[in-house]
Amino acid sequence: MYLELGELGMARRAFDTLPSRDIFSWNSMIAGYSKANEIDLARGMFDEMPQKDLVSWNTMIDGYAKCGRCELAREFFDMMPRKDVVSWTAMISGYTFNQRPKEALHLFREMLSVRIRPDAAIVVSVLSAIADLGFIEEGRWIHEYLRAHNFSLSSGFIGSALIDMYAKCGYIEDANRVFMSISHKRRIGDWNSIISGLALHGLGIDALEIFHEMETIGMEPNEITFVGVLNACCHFGLVEEGELCFKLMQENYKISPKIQHFGCMIDLFGRAGNLEKALTIIRDMPMEADDLAWKAMLTACLKHGDVETGVHAAQHVMELAPNDSSGYVLLSNIYAKARRWDDVAKVRSMMRERGIKKIPGCSKVYANGKIHEFLVGMEMDGCYGGMVLSKLEEVVCRLKLEGYEPDLTQVLVDVEEEEKESWLAVHSEKMAVAFGLISLGKGSLIHIVKNLRVCSDCHSFMKIVSRVYNRKIVVRDQNRFHHFTNGFCSCNEYW
Ligand SMILES: [Zn+2]
Ligand SMILES: [Zn+2]
Repeated sequence: MYLELGELGMARRAFDTLPSRDIFSWNSMIAGYSKANEIDLARGMFDEMPQKDLVSWNTMIDGYAKCGRCELAREFFDMMPRKDVVSWTAMISGYTFNQRPKEALHLFREMLSVRIRPDAAIVVSVLSAIADLGFIEEGRWIHEYLRAHNFSLSSGFIGSALIDMYAKCGYIEDANRVFMSISHKRRIGDWNSIISGLALHGLGIDALEIFHEMETIGMEPNEITFVGVLNACCHFGLVEEGELCFKLMQENYKISPKIQHFGCMIDLFGRAGNLEKALTIIRDMPMEADDLAWKAMLTACLKHGDVETGVHAAQHVMELAPNDSSGYVLLSNIYAKARRWDDVAKVRSMMRERGIKKIPGCSKVYANGKIHEFLVGMEMDGCYGGMVLSKLEEVVCRLKLEGYEPDLTQVLVDVEEEEKESWLAVHSEKMAVAFGLISLGKGSLIHIVKNLRVCSDCHSFMKIVSRVYNRKIVVRDQNRFHHFTNGFCSCNEYW
């Protein structure tokens, strides 16, 4: 009982005075410590236990994974004398939780090879690992596996995880197909997944249609639904519709907006160029604006070239998220766009003084059965030699003949103009495209997953590549999907 109250000290005293301790009371103590994030205390008890059972081992694996210590969790997992499906679930979801999708997938395959039937929880966890990675191949294989082994899409959250996986891997039609196939037994999570998926692809109108369908059949939306709906409006510039939904949420459904909803509204007005209204929301909302809200503001200022408000927003981002480089990077871009190079240099030296490091851009591309990773400025995988860089040089030359002009404001470093161009040329997504052009057959799609937002120079670059080389390119960046075809992007510059 004490454990439920979270009073670990009292629980421990009660435990210490027990005349005889059975394995159940040991396990409860370990679970209590682990839940309270006191994993080292849990470990102490685990070591002291005269006897351990599966529950004790599983609790330790789960506890280590939840506090980010995957290596220790894995050590326990490997050491345990016998494993059950809970042990596998704890380890696999531990990897997913800590954003180590490759390891999660690897272990899942290992589990199948020792003939353990996965339960819904593992399937959901593995699907979300694939969604995180962003490449469909493993996802299709798992969908096949689920069909072959008669898994019901309505068991656990498999249906919504599948929709989410297809959407995040760039296949919104397949996500829709799954959604249609469960038409008679849809739950709120399924609706939410398809709405956020459509938003991610910039399909604002379709997302709103689904939302109205939901209302028509009397399915009650929740706060997550509205984050999806508002995001959908954001990515498509549907300002009026967004305002209406925000009102509807509060008046009809009595959901009081959380900081994420306000964040969406700031983004919505900011992107559409109504910076004043965005600022009013920040000022009037019942809670303090967080770094994300100010970042949305800052991004809007960059898009619309408002230096003054941008500086103000950047100060807030720097205060609220002191180790995050993006406030500095965006501010520098704002100054660069206004050609205020002295201020660009000041931001740079401020970053250096405060020891802020820019998160390196990283792009992944799938080719020949493997995921290839590129970091900004270098070729990750030695075996490509200079192949990728020389291909990139060739591509840039050809694009320049077709009217491509490198946008030098997107470079943070203070170097000569000529050098800036070479810095810009090696952005990770450009290298990934060059690699795609070399290694993927003519006509096949180049699919890239990037960890940061794509910069405006890379965005124009992709558009021209899609036309000149007649290739479809799909880029998932930090925020959304861009589908480039024949010189255009699906985002209509709304990103
Ligand atoms: Zn770029
Ligand atoms: Zn785009």
